Amino acid sequence: MTKKQLNLYAELLVKIGVNLQKGEMLVISAPISAVDLVKATVKCAYKAGAENVNVLWNDDEISRLGYKYRSKKSLAEVPNWVVEQREYFIDKKIVYLGISSSDPEALKGINPEKLAISRRASGKALKKFHDYTSSNKIRWSLAAYPNKAWAKKMFPNLSPKQAMDKLWEYIVKSVRLDSQNPVKAWEEHQSKILNRCKILNESKIDTFIYKNSLGTNLTVGMPKGYIFCGGAEAGALDGVYFTANLPTEEVFSCPDRNRVDGKVYSSMPLCVNGAIVKDFWFEFKNGRIVDYGAKEGLKILKNIIETDDGSHYLGEIALVGHNSPIRNLNVLFYKTLFDENASCHFAIGACYPTCVEGGGEMSTEELLEKGLNDSLEHVDFMIGTSDLSIIAKTEDGKEIKVFENGDWVF
Ligand code: ZN
Ligand code: ZN
Repeated sequence: MTKKQLNLYAELLVKIGVNLQKGEMLVISAPISAVDLVKATVKCAYKAGAENVNVLWNDDEISRLGYKYRSKKSLAEVPNWVVEQREYFIDKKIVYLGISSSDPEALKGINPEKLAISRRASGKALKKFHDYTSSNKIRWSLAAYPNKAWAKKMFPNLSPKQAMDKLWEYIVKSVRLDSQNPVKAWEEHQSKILNRCKILNESKIDTFIYKNSLGTNLTVGMPKGYIFCGGAEAGALDGVYFTANLPTEEVFSCPDRNRVDGKVYSSMPLCVNGAIVKDFWFEFKNGRIVDYGAKEGLKILKNIIETDDGSHYLGEIALVGHNSPIRNLNVLFYKTLFDENASCHFAIGACYPTCVEGGGEMSTEELLEKGLNDSLEHVDFMIGTSDLSIIAKTEDGKEIKVFENGDWVF
């Protein structure tokens, strides 16, 4: 990554990512290793008129030490000041940028129960802030920064330096920094995604039927008033467009949590806190996971599913063509932010409330009534293959081909 590319990346995060407006407060959460990108982003944000920029630093090794040495009781406690800080951010109507650079194996060997306790505790304590971002009341964006362990995991045969260079190169391609004018390239990319959303939203789809040679044969019902989103989304309070994930290729919505039936097979491994789940499947009945299996990592899968009641149901349906730039790199990133943009996927757990008409204003109970799932979990898993077909049945009984041979028909 050249200095120029780094500055372009920062510009992309500020202008396309959170789309910072004059007078707004930006909060960046980032690892200490990403300090050069953070500095470039802070500078870009002030130039774009930020009123204030705050950085919340984190570090994989320090987190690991916490999990290792803290007791379960201690991990279950989230201090008040952390909760109050988030309340302050909500009051200040911040925009939020997350830079993520975790080592995919940073937490390998840590007691999964401790991880689950900590995840549940912070999920509960920060629920309000999470609800604000997931319902787009806070404009937010998530982007990646490479690190040696991650690069080495992806390219085990290269030297550490070569692997880092290669990972940077792949990030550059994935987020379209290699085009002449990245901000413009993103605007074009987003209009293509928005067109697909428009077609799906106007078609009044009742169910999708997924089939492929892995054995997937799954029917997914859609709630009335569903909204497919993708690319840029509008902030719920201000209508200002932002891009929640860089990169992003997906067109996504929420399924009716009670109308998912059949079997679905994973097409890529799932990486959770450094642990890997491979060759897994789920069987659904009336939306609930009634059976599941995995060739590797079954215990990790079990932990996710048993988080709460909602983690037995789907909260996201996402469509990604097999021909996406990330897929064409033909490598596993071991990072959901990238891998989910290489493949059609679903998520176990929480929905995005804005994926149904009026959902941003509904309570959890009202959403559940509509068929939209709630959970402390949200775990994406990939199911797209080069022979996946998806057919949509509309409310008035018409059939529309959506995917053929793993790719978009329109
Ligand atoms: Zn997704
Ligand atoms: Zn997701």
